[in-house]
Amino acid sequence: MPAISSNKPYRIGRSRTGLGLFATRPIKKGTRIIRYFGPLLDCNKEKDDAIENKYLFSLTNRWTIDGSVRANIARYINHSCRPNAESDVKPIKRKVYIVAIKNIEPGEEINYDYGTEYFKEYIKPIGCLCAACVKKRKKLRAEARAEKQRLKARAERKAKKQAERLAQEKAKQAQKAKQDAQAKRKHAARKQLHGGYLSGAGPHKVRAVQRDTALRTRGGQASV
Ligand SMILES: [Zn+2]
Repeated sequence: MPAISSNKPYRIGRSRTGLGLFATRPIKKGTRIIRYFGPLLDCNKEKDDAIENKYLFSLTNRWTIDGSVRANIARYINHSCRPNAESDVKPIKRKVYIVAIKNIEPGEEINYDYGTEYFKEYIKPIGCLCAACVKKRKKLRAEARAEKQRLKARAERKAKKQAERLAQEKAKQAQKAKQDAQAKRKHAARKQLHGGYLSGAGPHKVRAVQRDTALRTRGGQASV
């Protein structure tokens, strides 16, 4: 790790993403904290244009700072979507400074927004680990958990209601079966009581007997 003079208000320390730059003294909003520096690359030169690393800082369409050199302490500053510092680019002087945009307390990590292009290329694919994004993801996860719980509770309520309905339906069916059996029993008892009617020994015979009498009467008349 490169040595940092004790009169600087920062130190290199462990951060969520590996190493980061942390304030060791209060840094007032607007303070120029550190310069981001390294060899200047000219994209018109094939050799320069071929250089590719995560520490390239575009100054203009033509000039880029290669900040991958060890002495460039500013390269330890991590990206944040809600930063407390920003890059102040001086294209004519071909210099970049990191400036506090908030009052920074000792122990606080110093961050700046790396910009959309860098974010899309390097951060988005692995997921941003800045405090704001971690907090946001935590909140989203908690919300998802709560939603899952809500859905589970709703499904349980629904299943319970369905079971209750089914039990009611079963009870109704049992009641009906009981009533049907009772009715059958009553019917059978009635059948025994008025058994004569249904065995053919009832009014039919009486009527037949009467018919016989009538025929006989008529016959009687004919014979007279
Ligand atoms: Zn973020």
